[in-house]
Amino acid sequence: MKRFLVISNHKAEDCNLALKETLAIGYLTHYDWGCKDGVHTGWAILEAEDKAQALMSVPTFLRNQEMVVRLIKFDPAKIALIHVEPPTPTTEK
Ligand SMILES: [Zn+2]
Repeated sequence: MKRFLVISNHKAEDCNLALKETLAIGYLTHYDWGCKDGVHTGWAILEAEDKAQALMSVPTFLRNQEMVVRLIKFDPAKIALIHVEPPTPTTEK
């Protein structure tokens, strides 16, 4: 399974409906919500086969506004081995 960050935005006036619909499709508690702080967004990290499947956690009336990001972890040992070029000195006068 791949992991995805799903960012589910809704307007303040749609808040109750967005939360009720998310509850109805079984994903209310998968999300952390910013609503009480005035940010009407839910964030969830979900396992799914692809972005389309991850998007199934979002009510249909909000789906076209959604953002789904594939998440990976980097291996610290491999990152440590990457050779970083020193910054090129600028020749501006
Ligand atoms: Zn809200």
